[in-house]
Amino acid sequence: LKHWWGVESPYHFRGEGPRNRTQIGREKASLVMLVRNRELKDALSAMKDIEDRFNRHYRYPWTFFNDEPFSEEFKLHTSRMASGEVQYGLIPKEHWSLPTNIDEKKFREKMKEMADKKIIYGGSESYRHMCRYNSGFFWQSPLLKDFDWYWRVEPSTSFYCDQLYDPFTFMRENGKRYSFVMTMYEFRATIETLWSSTREFAKKHPEYIAEDNSLGFIVDDYKDKNSLFKKDFNLCHFWSNFEIADLNLWRSQAYRDYFAFLDAKGGFFYERWGDAPVHSIAASLFLPKDQIHFFHDIGYRHPPYKRCPQDDESTDYGRCQCPFNKGESFDFDGYSCQKRWWKFHNQDDSGNPIPSYK
Ligand code: GDP
Ligand code: MN
Repeated sequence: LKHWWGVESPYHFRGEGPRNRTQIGREKASLVMLVRNRELKDALSAMKDIEDRFNRHYRYPWTFFNDEPFSEEFKLHTSRMASGEVQYGLIPKEHWSLPTNIDEKKFREKMKEMADKKIIYGGSESYRHMCRYNSGFFWQSPLLKDFDWYWRVEPSTSFYCDQLYDPFTFMRENGKRYSFVMTMYEFRATIETLWSSTREFAKKHPEYIAEDNSLGFIVDDYKDKNSLFKKDFNLCHFWSNFEIADLNLWRSQAYRDYFAFLDAKGGFFYERWGDAPVHSIAASLFLPKDQIHFFHDIGYRHPPYKRCPQDDESTDYGRCQCPFNKGESFDFDGYSCQKRWWKFHNQDDSGNPIPSYK
């Protein structure tokens, strides 16, 4: 069929636009966004990238969560942008309020101290609820009960490349449970006692620690499994504003117990424990290392950082919008833990295997 200006068109005007043109996603998966009504514009720009680059060919549903009811405007515009189903969840109060074990006076004092020290989000109560929600609650939502996989999307993020295969299928077929695109150092002041709490938990539950885990990535000078008790957390964590992961990892007894243990410690409030270090430590300790995947072929930006695939092949096939030098990718930033990841997996600075000479 010819388009009216004479160009052969693969699908327009044949009643089979992108929405029903190609394969339909077959995984039990949802895109998931925690977001506020006032972030509508930024939510749409992230959605547009994911829809254009990937999801319009798969039509996975979007699940939105908010601690306040979504506005009609928010629902209208986001459902228009989505190629598949949409669902809007109101977070129950008990998942977004001070738990009873928290001493409110102590909490306010600690928060004030952290604000005075200009620790990032140190003075924010809502940020703490957000981190605790992402750590312990979203995966329990009845809206996600029929799903095994989620792709976490944040407002204001960009996706630079066509996603040429289904990442959920990739994860499932390759036995992956958790994935990331950027890894970096956490601010020590936000997690002063997270590592000691983790040690305490691991002493109590050695059965949850996987053989062949990724402890060697999150401590320096790793020797053996006792390094958990001898070495400090090196602050490397997966930047969790992007996550494609198995919901059943968080639903596992190991992680439920870990979250409950951490929650009882109060560090989500007295300190400002992020969901990123919590997820990262859990994935690093509870999973065999081959179950964590670095998506080297995803071009991604969450301000202030961006990264692109290193190799020409991914960049070409993915039509990546990456008009910057390889060195500008966050992978090579001094603040990135990517080099440690490659080293930990015996790969060189481009992710290629280092040949082993015997
Ligand atoms: P940053 O990336 O660590 O700077 O934090 P963001 O401000 O991006 O927040 C992380 C995610 O949680 C984003 O998806 C936000 O839209 C969402 N978020 C943060 N605070 C709130 C809140 O108070 N309510 C709701 N509904 N979402 C929030
Ligand atoms: Mn963000």
